[in-house]
Amino acid sequence: MTETILESVQRAKQLLNAKELDVNAAELAMQAVTGKSRAGYFAALRDQLPEESRSLFWEYIEELLTGKPIQYILEEESFYGYSFEVNERVLIPRPETEELVFYALSRARRLFGDKVIQFADIGTGSGAIAVAFKKERPNAQVTATDVSEEALQVAKRNAQRNDVEITFRQGDMEEPLMGQTWDVILSNPPYIAEHEKSDMSATVFDFEPSSALFAEEDGLYFYRRLAERLAPLMNKRALIGFEIGYQQGEIVQQFLQKAFPEANVDIVQDINKKDRMIFCEIQ
Ligand code: SAM
Ligand code: GLN
Repeated sequence: MTETILESVQRAKQLLNAKELDVNAAELAMQAVTGKSRAGYFAALRDQLPEESRSLFWEYIEELLTGKPIQYILEEESFYGYSFEVNERVLIPRPETEELVFYALSRARRLFGDKVIQFADIGTGSGAIAVAFKKERPNAQVTATDVSEEALQVAKRNAQRNDVEITFRQGDMEEPLMGQTWDVILSNPPYIAEHEKSDMSATVFDFEPSSALFAEEDGLYFYRRLAERLAPLMNKRALIGFEIGYQQGEIVQQFLQKAFPEANVDIVQDINKKDRMIFCEIQ
């Protein structure tokens, strides 16, 4: 059966839609198998889908129909305008986390000017936060940690892919950062509570690493522990920034304010007007 690109995508979208999956993934799969940009794809909608692209396209659609995220199928996601390799060992970096990087960069500029700063990203996953920060502030000395050796392998490849120098350390939470003091520490730790499992989409729950998603103490474990332990690791003037779940703002603010009574601790909303980040400015 010969079909145009448009007909193939429409048929794939119907199958995805029947399973309540994201239909736009069909277009991304088509662009990937034909090697076309978004614009090139639209220009070619009425062309026949070439024989050599057809079987790969339907292979991708079969995978999508299992609920697998398109980013794991294509092994790529863009974050802060940079391209990252992703696989099932790492969380797919999210747009909310781009906002964490954006606000951290502007606060770092205000607090430190152009000074060379010591920066750390705890739980780096794909390396998204660390790599983007280093690209945008090249004179920062950037360290990235994760408890997962497999995640660190992906993060290292992403540093190479984006041509930045980053120090990687494996270990639990703040432990790999000990023995040195820091100007900026960012983290997007696991923050989903066990009881929220039932609300999650299968695309996230079945495919993304649970060690990147779930945390004890109603999702608050990492914040409580980091708040309690980061003080001796921070320089006199310093910035801590966390991504948070949208209902966690007040309590995480309390953890940080208790640990840093003199600091300015504020909750920042994402573009969807949800509490999404917390910054603690110590001076
Ligand atoms: N920073 C990446 C991002 O924003 O896309 C990944 C964030 S993901 C929500 C959390 C990361 O923390 C995962 O890569 C996971 O392996 C890591 N992690 C989980 N427990 C940890 C621990 N005890 N110490 C260090 N990292 C941990
Ligand atoms: N934002 C992620 C999600 O919606 C969760 C990330 C995290 O736990 N840090 O699934």
